[in-house]
Amino acid sequence: MTTRGQRYDAVVAQREELSPRLVRLVLSVPGFTSTGVPDEWVGLVVPGQFQVRYYTVRSNDGDEVVLDVVIHEEGLVTAWAGADCVGDAVILTAAQASYSPPAGAAWLMLVGDLTALPAMARIAGSTSLPTRIWAEVPDDLSGYLPPGPDVTWLTPPAEGQSRLAEVVQQIDWPEGDGYFWMAGESAQMRAIRKHLMRERRLPNAAYDVMGYWRAVSARQPRTVDPGPIWQAGKASGKSDQEIWAAYDEARGV
Ligand SMILES: Cc1cc2nc3c(=O)[nH]c(=O)nc-3n(C[C@H](O)[C@H](O)[C@H](O)COP(=O)(O)OP(=O)(O)OC[C@H]3O[C@@H](n4cnc5c(N)ncnc54)[C@H](O)[C@@H]3O)c2cc1C
Repeated sequence: MTTRGQRYDAVVAQREELSPRLVRLVLSVPGFTSTGVPDEWVGLVVPGQFQVRYYTVRSNDGDEVVLDVVIHEEGLVTAWAGADCVGDAVILTAAQASYSPPAGAAWLMLVGDLTALPAMARIAGSTSLPTRIWAEVPDDLSGYLPPGPDVTWLTPPAEGQSRLAEVVQQIDWPEGDGYFWMAGESAQMRAIRKHLMRERRLPNAAYDVMGYWRAVSARQPRTVDPGPIWQAGKASGKSDQEIWAAYDEARGV
C-alpha cells in the first residue's frame, strides 16, 4: 500500500554507466507500489544524508525499480552515484506523478534536458499518440528512446546550461488539440509557462511544465518536498501549472 508518508528501504543491486553523464541504478525495493503514470518520480535519500533528491522511475517490475541518474559537476547524489554504490542501502519515498493528457488529445509534445530523458522515454514507450520529442542532452544517447517518436536532439550551450525556452518559443505547433509535457532547468521552465499562458493561451489541462533542477552559482535553492505542495494544491483545486509554480516559489526559484 502506498501512503503519502510511505518510505521504502532499498538496496542498490546494479550500477551501469549508460553514458559519461548518465548512470543507471537498479534498486531492490521490497513492497514498492507504482502509480502506473509514466512520469512518476520518487524521493531518494542516499547513505549518510537526510536531504531528498527526486528521480523518475524509469521502469518498475515487482520489487525492482530502475532510476537513471545524471552525473553533473557536483552534488549530493551526483557524488554518491558517480562512484561504486552497489550494495548501499538507500531510502525511497512513495511515487508521485504529474503526466495527464486530456481526453481527446491527438498528439504529444515532449521537451526536456537530460534529467527529463528518463520520463520522456517512459512516456514515449507508453503512448500510442503521435509524439514529437526535443531532447537537450550532452551525451550521445540516441539509442535511449524507444522507436516511434520524431526526435530532435539538441546540444546544451554549456555544461549545466539550457536553451530549451528559446527552442520552445520557435516550435511549429501541430493542428488540433494535444498535450505538451516539459521538464528541466527551473528558470527555463518558468519562461515557458509564461509563454504558454500569455502567448499561446493554452488551457491548463493542455500542458505540464516542471522545474526539475535549478542552475545556481552562489545561492543554493532550498530543498522542499513537492509532495505536500502537490497535495495541498490539488485539494484547493489548483491547476498543475499553479502547483509547479508554487513549488518553484517555495524553493526560492
Ligand atoms: C519530479 C522530478 C523528477 C526528476 N527526475 C530525474 C531523473 O530521472 N534523473 C535525474 O538525474 N534527475 C532528475 N531530477 C532532477 C534531480 O532531482 C536534480 O538534478 C538534483 O538536484 C540532483 O541532485 P544532486 O544531489 O546530484 O545535486 P544537488 O546537490 O541537488 O545540486 C548541486 C549543484 O548542482 C546543480 N545541479 C543540480 N542538478 C543539476 C543538473 N541536472 N545539471 C547541472 N547542474 C545541476 C545545482 O544547481 C547545485 O548548484 C528530477 C527532479 C524532479 C523534481
